[in-house]
Amino acid sequence: AKRAGRNTWRFYTEQMNANAVEQLQLRTALHSALENDEFLLHYQPQINLASGHVVGVEALLRWHWDKRELVPPDRFIPAAEESGLIVPIGDWVLREACMQAVRWTRQGLPELTIAVNLSAVQFRRGDLERSVVRALSLSGLDPARLELELTESLLLVDTESVIETLRRLKSLGVRLSIDDFGTGYSSLAYLKRFAVDKLKIDQSFVRDIATDPDDAAIVRAIVSMAHTLKLQVIAEGVESEDIDRFLHIFNCDEAQGYHYARPMPGDALAEWLVASGR
Ligand code: C2E
Ligand code: CA
Ligand code: CA
Ligand code: CA
Repeated sequence: AKRAGRNTWRFYTEQMNANAVEQLQLRTALHSALENDEFLLHYQPQINLASGHVVGVEALLRWHWDKRELVPPDRFIPAAEESGLIVPIGDWVLREACMQAVRWTRQGLPELTIAVNLSAVQFRRGDLERSVVRALSLSGLDPARLELELTESLLLVDTESVIETLRRLKSLGVRLSIDDFGTGYSSLAYLKRFAVDKLKIDQSFVRDIATDPDDAAIVRAIVSMAHTLKLQVIAEGVESEDIDRFLHIFNCDEAQGYHYARPMPGDALAEWLVASGR
């Protein structure tokens, strides 16, 4: 038993060392990723459930590390936040997303909304208002077509400066949505205070609505509360026809998920839009 224990321990530290080495390599590489042009955005369609049309897309960051592999955001965003690199990376995401939206319109595609994820670090350490203004003026995008996705944890910080920044962003004419809604401390007071436009119901509630009556009740309650407060509501992580049907019944406004389309590069999205007739 002792030997097995020691082997287990050794395996564990080797595993930890491998992870630590990988994290270190990743952090080092992250520093040059922007100048090496290694980031790209994928876009996932958002469907209006009543019409079936695509009304928007969410921009999702990808890192083509050293032209080798596509690193998913969950593996590098925490490191980018700790180092502060998320500020210049986030600026790049804003500019790139706005410019892509304008390119699609020039190609004759419908005027989609473009949703961009924001990190709390961009509020604390960057000049977010300035970044948004610059992305809008560089691209010429109508501010009403830009939607900023915030997390509940950011809104709970509730400092004067966050409130002030959000107020300024709203006055630019951009839209605000709350990402992963329901997973944070759902202090609903902030819904009115921050003048958000939309709630994104987290996929953990959406996934099982066709089979779990509790999840179905939660989603239905969120939709009805949102509508009472004159907010729009979108369901994330829709993976099946069954879930789509429940969302219709619950009167949810929009939906996003693999059932409709996976995130894809900008050109592929344009082709998909034309081919699918959405
Ligand atoms: P998120 O904002 O909640 O984005 C939704 C995630 O769910 C995306 O993962 C998307 O690819 C995935 N997804 C979409 N449809 C389905 C589905 O039907 N089933 C399942 N299981 N998953 C689905 P992704 O692209 O790996 O992004 C992960 C997270 O990374 C995002 O979660 C967001 O928090 C963060 N992120 C992505 N891009 C950015 C960015 O530009 N800036 C910042 N700060 N964070 C970002
Ligand atoms: Ca999001
Ligand atoms: Ca989300
Ligand atoms: Ca998430």
